[in-house]
Amino acid sequence: MGFLGTHPVLIAGGGIGGLAAALGLAQKGISSVLLEKASTLGEIGAGIQLGPNAFHAFDYLGVGEAARGMAVYIDQLRLMDALTAEEITHVDLRDAFRARFGNPYAVVHRGDLHGVLLKACQNHDLIDLRVSSEVLGYDQDASSVTARLGNGERVTGSLLIGADGLWSNIRNTVIGDGRPRVSGHTTYRSVIPTDEMPEDLRWNAATLWAGPKCHIVHYPLSGWKVFNLVVTCHNDAPEPVAGKPVSDEEVMQGFAHVHARAQNIIRHGRNWRLWVLCDRDPNERWVDGRVALLGDAAHPMLQYFAQGACMALEDAVCLSHMLSTHEDHALALQHYRAQRFPRTARVQLLSRAIGEHIYHPSGEHARLRNAIMRAKSSEDYYGDLAWLYGGTGLGS
Ligand SMILES: Cc1cc2nc3c(=O)[nH]c(=O)nc-3n(C[C@H](O)[C@H](O)[C@H](O)COP(=O)(O)OP(=O)(O)OC[C@H]3O[C@@H](n4cnc5c(N)ncnc54)[C@H](O)[C@@H]3O)c2cc1C
Repeated sequence: MGFLGTHPVLIAGGGIGGLAAALGLAQKGISSVLLEKASTLGEIGAGIQLGPNAFHAFDYLGVGEAARGMAVYIDQLRLMDALTAEEITHVDLRDAFRARFGNPYAVVHRGDLHGVLLKACQNHDLIDLRVSSEVLGYDQDASSVTARLGNGERVTGSLLIGADGLWSNIRNTVIGDGRPRVSGHTTYRSVIPTDEMPEDLRWNAATLWAGPKCHIVHYPLSGWKVFNLVVTCHNDAPEPVAGKPVSDEEVMQGFAHVHARAQNIIRHGRNWRLWVLCDRDPNERWVDGRVALLGDAAHPMLQYFAQGACMALEDAVCLSHMLSTHEDHALALQHYRAQRFPRTARVQLLSRAIGEHIYHPSGEHARLRNAIMRAKSSEDYYGDLAWLYGGTGLGS
């Protein structure tokens, strides 16, 4: 680690990826300065699903117990046909799943998860958290890298990690591949009190209703106090949008063709907000000298595999491992990239494919999906998912 010299590692972005990176480095005795654009550190008030691979990462980052304490442990991943309202299949997440993967599958409130990571960072002497610090770009030489901030400040470090999300400034310089791809898929989110969720659908499951060009997801959160609703339709939306408030009627437009029972879920939502989803093709040029990308800045993906944050956590594990086991920064960052790129690229591409082939097909394609997925047991699904859930940031 001699290459780190006396300078801290700079991290641009205080989302789940940036905080996890700071924690991972601190676990290895490496100091960091985290530079967050916003004036406060936080997350939006919605849910997130976490596979066992996220819990492997939490343990490595030293927050396993705290993360387990705020999770809701669901019994199933349940797939429903949104046209017939019949179950297609489910994956049992109870004892056999946990025994197989060594950790649970859970759902958490984003704010709670971010809060666990933030608290651990705040309690660590090696982490300096700074808000209102947008990183616009960087300059580097043989011994250091300097981040240029929007407020005119310059901060020098040994390395710079770009964990600044989908619209990453750091990526613009490292790769320069323009704006993200607009998927044409629109997602609407709402969180409602559990007693307002239709009573016959208060399942202890992450449930997904798959219909032609649309799907609906719901699961309980925060000790069953609320239900997270996420509904998506493929409506060829042309421009990126993030978090715009929309009316119930507008949400329903993409779901006029699904079963009344599925529509009823949408009717129970309130304060809907809209996102037009973006992602990118995999691109392995994540490293530029003393600068490397992490999380959505490196591999933004559609949420259909529920793995974006899980991958960011794994990145943090891998990065801190590589920096603590190599004597040369170039080698450490190249090993980090080589380890992480194939796995994250696979998840990026599969996330798109799942949307097209499992969540959104119609007609014969949908009938075939139902037949294939019905024929599988939970054990079959465990086998299919072993490369993902059995993996860690250090290898699968
Ligand atoms: C609808 C939806 C559902 C999802 N569901 C799941 C799920 O169930 N499971 C899962 O694992 N993932 C899920 N994801 C993906 C997950 O939310 C993201 O992959 C994850 O939050 C990425 O974290 P990040 O830290 O890389 O980026 P971000 O969360 O985007 O954080 C980036 C941070 O950097 C800051 N920033 C931006 N630019 C700058 C700058 N120039 N300088 C300084 N700071 C900057 C931002 O303010 C922000 O705080 C979902 C995503 C969506 C849209």
